[in-house]
Amino acid sequence: MIDQGFPLHAAPGEAMRPSLGGRSCLSRRRALGLGLAALAQPLLARPSLAGGQLAAPQSSARANDPFPLGVASGDPLPDGFVLWTRLAPEPLSRDPQAPGGLRGGDIVLRFEIAEDPLMQKVVRHGLARAEAAFAHSVHLEVEGLAAGRPYWYRFMTNDAASPIGCARTAPGSEQRLDNFRFGFVSCANYEQGYFSAYRHLAAEAPDLVLFLGDYIYETVQPKEKAVVRRHSDGEIPMTLIGYRNRYAQYRLDPDLQALHAAAPALTIWDDHEVQNDYAGEWASNFEPPAKFLLQRAAAYQAFYEHMPLRPSRCFAQGSAMRIYGRYNFGDLVSFSMLDGRQYRSREACYAPPYGGGHVVTAKQCPELVDPSRSLLGEAQEAWLYDGFAQSKARWNIIGQTVLMASLHEDDAGAEAHAWTEAWDGYPAARTRLLDHIQASGVANPIVLSGDNHAFWTNDLKQTPEGATIATEFVGTSVTSYGPPYESVAKKLPANPEVRFFESRKRGYASVEMNAERMVTRFQAISDAADPNAGVSTLASFVVEAGRKGVVAA
Ligand code: FE
Ligand code: CA
Repeated sequence: MIDQGFPLHAAPGEAMRPSLGGRSCLSRRRALGLGLAALAQPLLARPSLAGGQLAAPQSSARANDPFPLGVASGDPLPDGFVLWTRLAPEPLSRDPQAPGGLRGGDIVLRFEIAEDPLMQKVVRHGLARAEAAFAHSVHLEVEGLAAGRPYWYRFMTNDAASPIGCARTAPGSEQRLDNFRFGFVSCANYEQGYFSAYRHLAAEAPDLVLFLGDYIYETVQPKEKAVVRRHSDGEIPMTLIGYRNRYAQYRLDPDLQALHAAAPALTIWDDHEVQNDYAGEWASNFEPPAKFLLQRAAAYQAFYEHMPLRPSRCFAQGSAMRIYGRYNFGDLVSFSMLDGRQYRSREACYAPPYGGGHVVTAKQCPELVDPSRSLLGEAQEAWLYDGFAQSKARWNIIGQTVLMASLHEDDAGAEAHAWTEAWDGYPAARTRLLDHIQASGVANPIVLSGDNHAFWTNDLKQTPEGATIATEFVGTSVTSYGPPYESVAKKLPANPEVRFFESRKRGYASVEMNAERMVTRFQAISDAADPNAGVSTLASFVVEAGRKGVVAA
């Protein structure tokens, strides 16, 4: 499905200027404003770069903005990153021959990378390819930049410029990094609210944003049901064009565009990027795997087309696509970003009417505790455990989707109820993971999760009486409705490892860390139905390096 990428480098002879140093991206909001101004006032046609095959976009592209989906950066390395855009003058075109309103082959456009938000100190410019096979998306792998600093970038066609975005290179893994700030987000159902959480996180100008799944929702609410805004095609996507247009609709959102323009992203998917509650090749609606895998391949391709993924790292084969990976920032922090969907064993006791999440006990469903079942798959588990053994980072973050803490009722043992969708549905796999964290002695392990639509702070343990092995934070949802508060809250007395729970708020989480401590702020927006919602800090938690568990709750 995904071919070789087209790594395009700067034209020969373009010397890179020395770094000005400094890490601040604080002019980012100003940069965004400039980007919008640039859109309103298209650049005058400029001569093409010498030797460049600068194809003019279609006539429709001249009439319309070719960059309505904005820009993004991702996958930071010490000498570069990936820059993304997608040419789509008619972003919701349903013509299968003209995704985004564009026909024909690849389009070559220009890019500029500068050391300043005004794009005055350009250190790199060149040509980038918008690939027709991938809906004219660009995944530009930039190399040879200075480590650990911000850069600003934009794309240009003959008569239009994209918004300006801010990307950052990572500090080298041997480089001392004093502090790092990042945000994590999950579960942004367009129909259930406005993306104010994204806007407020963008305003914090973090060094990095983790998107922990459910970036889109494939679902549609029935017409008679009230929603905040609608998935405009009103259809559950099954095909490439359906998934593409769902991503395009999300990317038209100004708050999501602002967040991508403000900071580099690491993105993993959960279920709704394909289908609610699917597991590997197993559809929750019991489609036969051969048929479901075609749908999954379309969904994975649309994900690739809309995310700042590195073509040379994101390996696709048939209906499979590898997205898990590890990203290091100086000596301070390592992120292992996991794929909890593609390789997972079928949910325990998968049989009509239960194709997805449901509640079982081990007594009813002995398959639940079968040690051969995995949430990550054998290869990814081995890769993760090897990463623990090798890591030299001060903090080791596992970015993944579903709730890892064990949530039990008052009963115990074979009678204990387990929700089959989350790690509770894969207890042997969770035991293996926690065993490896403990046995490897990996420094300061932290698990960040999505999917659950609630804020959680949890001590991860093998048994309720056992020692804390890691801390889990869940950053609620950007908009998606939370689980009923009262029904979860009444279980909490039996779950002392849950240090905090709140499902009535939408928002995001912000983290600031240095060698000594990690502070996680749960940020709640005032109202997901209000496009101008405010934000406030609901709770903050401190984890001290070398000490398990949160010290302040
Ligand atoms: Fe969700
Ligand atoms: Ca989910």
